[in-house]
Amino acid sequence: MRDLICGAQVEEIEDAFSLEYEGKTYYFCSERCRETFHMKVTQERVTFPLTGRGAPS
Ligand SMILES: [Zn+2]
Repeated sequence: MRDLICGAQVEEIEDAFSLEYEGKTYYFCSERCRETFHMKVTQERVTFPLTGRGAPS
């Protein structure tokens, strides 16, 4: 699947950088992207996947 932060292709493997959020598991290329995602969903209330038109205000 895709890293939702930087768009990199990531493998869904056990030791990948992953995060479970609201019943779904998300995968990232790095710890940095995982932390960014976590910050966005918890602090900025961003909903993933993004629609491509920016976050609704
Ligand atoms: Zn990334």
